[in-house]
Amino acid sequence: MIERWAADLGRAGPTEVGGVLFGEQVAEGDFRVVEVTRQRSMGGTATTFKRRGGGARKEIMALHEKIGGEPERFNYLGEWHSHPSAPVWPSSQDEITMRKLLADQGNAVNFLVLVIVKLDGYARFQIAARTYLASGHKLNCEIEIEGAGTDAAGVVPSVNEEEK
Ligand SMILES: [Zn+2]
Repeated sequence: MIERWAADLGRAGPTEVGGVLFGEQVAEGDFRVVEVTRQRSMGGTATTFKRRGGGARKEIMALHEKIGGEPERFNYLGEWHSHPSAPVWPSSQDEITMRKLLADQGNAVNFLVLVIVKLDGYARFQIAARTYLASGHKLNCEIEIEGAGTDAAGVVPSVNEEEK
């Protein structure tokens, strides 16, 4: 998954790209990302990424079908996008977007994950994640990349680094 992701970022070059994260809750506060979709219609420029709600909803439905409709196990985890020319850190606009998405989900979900990725100057893959809780808190996440050959990355919110 990481190799494909990095290759895709390489092709996107200076354009910001993104999509949705789909995965499994392994334990409370421990999630495994099993699918990463990439928005097909490119709404990104070097500094902005426009999320297309309709397309994202369709992809989420398609993933439910593909994985076998086990929404209690596999579900929409959140969003990802690249920061080709900025650090892998949510911008203030990203924070607003995530709060809005969380509000849009109503009571259906009580958290959403935002993953930000980039290729650094040496074409090394960088990734960071933050979890937004319906309570208004946000948690920085630890990312565990599972071994080569497996197709998943774990996202573990790190409670120690909680911010106000
Ligand atoms: Zn961003």
